[in-house]
Amino acid sequence: MFCAYDLHNHSTASDGTLSPSDLVGLAARSGVRVLALTDHDSTEGVAEALRAAQTKQITLIAGVEISVTWNQQTIHLVGLNLDVGNERLQRGLAGLRAFRDERAREIGSRLEKAGIPEAFEGARAFSNGSLISRTHFARHLVQVGAAEDERKVFKHFLVNGKPGHVPGRWASLEEAVGWIHAAGGQAVIAHPARYRMTRSKLRRLLQEFLELGGDAIEVVSGSHSRDDYFVMAKHAREFGLLASAGSDFHSPETPWIVLGRLPMLPDGCLPIWHDWSLAETTPVSSLVS
Ligand code: AMP
Ligand code: MN
Ligand code: MN
Ligand code: MN
Repeated sequence: MFCAYDLHNHSTASDGTLSPSDLVGLAARSGVRVLALTDHDSTEGVAEALRAAQTKQITLIAGVEISVTWNQQTIHLVGLNLDVGNERLQRGLAGLRAFRDERAREIGSRLEKAGIPEAFEGARAFSNGSLISRTHFARHLVQVGAAEDERKVFKHFLVNGKPGHVPGRWASLEEAVGWIHAAGGQAVIAHPARYRMTRSKLRRLLQEFLELGGDAIEVVSGSHSRDDYFVMAKHAREFGLLASAGSDFHSPETPWIVLGRLPMLPDGCLPIWHDWSLAETTPVSSLVS
């Protein structure tokens, strides 16, 4: 049996390749019953996704994936059940997008020095009017033949120590939790196993998150191994955090992440949706585009 909830997904409003309505359509056809749209630092796609969900057998949760700098490392916080009309949230996200614009130009000029001209323009074309993510640089660099695939672009150009790396200056953990809660949402640490933290560092993060009022961690994630599910389920239980599940789907072209195929949460987890009344999860102001 697969999990009917998929609470972490991307659309063309950030670095996904499907429009919000195409994502909702694919998820509904794939057996997902409750889908969260969680684009990076933007809720731009939520109104379209909510409209698309009204004609399908699927409930759409308004969400976001916020970029955070914690201990000089970039981590991601998912916010779920947001009132996307909330001003504090939107001011915070606008600040992160302003940094993204600045960073994209800086990545472009660093890549230019490394012998790849006009990467900023190329990434901007791939972003198609939305915010610019490193994924858009990766797609452009693959297209011009600078690397074989997107993973190799990250490995050789975009990560720490490589020519196109620009350090993040994102939200603090406290700010990100504050914005999500101001918008009436729940704060979730995204894909915790991806950060490759030592056990003690991860537990420091979870402790700080808990003290800030954080709600949940992703136990089941498209980027977690089977072992990771059990390790994260144990952390969730020990810290009294709720458990979330999300594929982190970006595109049908990445066959290792397929919608509708998330496993159930391990026994002993309290699901983040345990007290959701689905009819009430979408604040009315989210419906106003
Ligand atoms: P950004 O938020 O613009 O720094 O970009 C982060 C996004 O890049 C992530 O959400 C992933 O979609 C993508 N990403 C990060 N690392 C990799 C990687 N090694 N291979 C492919 N995509 C990656
Ligand atoms: Mn992404
Ligand atoms: Mn992420
Ligand atoms: Mn994501």
